[in-house]
Amino acid sequence: MRVARVTKSWTTKSAEETVLVGRELAAMLRPPKLLILRGNLGAGKTTLVKGLAAELTSVEQEDVTSPTFTLVHEYSGGSVLLYHLDLYRLQQERELDVLGIEEMRREETIVLVEWGEKFPGLVSEADGEIAIEHGGGDLRTITLRLG
Ligand code: ADP
Ligand code: MG
Repeated sequence: MRVARVTKSWTTKSAEETVLVGRELAAMLRPPKLLILRGNLGAGKTTLVKGLAAELTSVEQEDVTSPTFTLVHEYSGGSVLLYHLDLYRLQQERELDVLGIEEMRREETIVLVEWGEKFPGLVSEADGEIAIEHGGGDLRTITLRLG
């Protein structure tokens, strides 16, 4: 990603508030996009995706779960196709090949990648990032950066 053109931050004090930020953030995203979701374990990345997915597609937020083991979840409905990836378990950049991330990059898609920052090749292709910082307790700071 080049220097961010759009930057916006939110502070939340509960998981529910983070879901609402996800919904608000969704309105700022036009496909096609590939965004890195950056933040430590338990920061709230998957929680944020619940709001994003509920707003962008017809999925219920309760049905959005972590793709930790399957690596990819896909949500459709409306005009957007959303791919939610979690690359925590991958070690090598070449392990990404089987996922076919390039094929996910289409006109109507938004691709959100947890732990995408581990792979420089992916970072260089991203349109931006959403970073979540754990502020202690239930406090989180969420920052959107679009290139
Ligand atoms: P990640 O995907 O980054 O590993 P998750 O979204 O799976 O994180 O988990 C975040 C955890 O933190 C959940 O248990 C959630 O209830 C809790 N939590 C507490 N406060 C917040 C907040 N402000 N925003 C998001 N999650 C929060
Ligand atoms: Mg997660």
